[in-house]
Amino acid sequence: MIKMACKWLDICPLRKFEEQGKISEEWKKNYCSTNENWNNCKRYQFEAEGKYHPDNMLPNGEIDEKLR
Ligand code: SF4
Repeated sequence: MIKMACKWLDICPLRKFEEQGKISEEWKKNYCSTNENWNNCKRYQFEAEGKYHPDNMLPNGEIDEKLR
């Protein structure tokens, strides 16, 4: 079976926070990349349902006020 990354991998706001060293790469590893866990990501679910979610909402749904 082909493992696919999240279709929003490259444009997700979390990439910016990773580049800035503000969040660990674990989120990407555990949700966004190749393990197909992106469908459990709250950001993914909200986006798919057209629901508002701030850039600083993490894949587990937690909002990190320090991220901006
Ligand atoms: S945080 Fe969620 S929506 Fe963003 S790339 Fe990762 S899995 Fe996709």
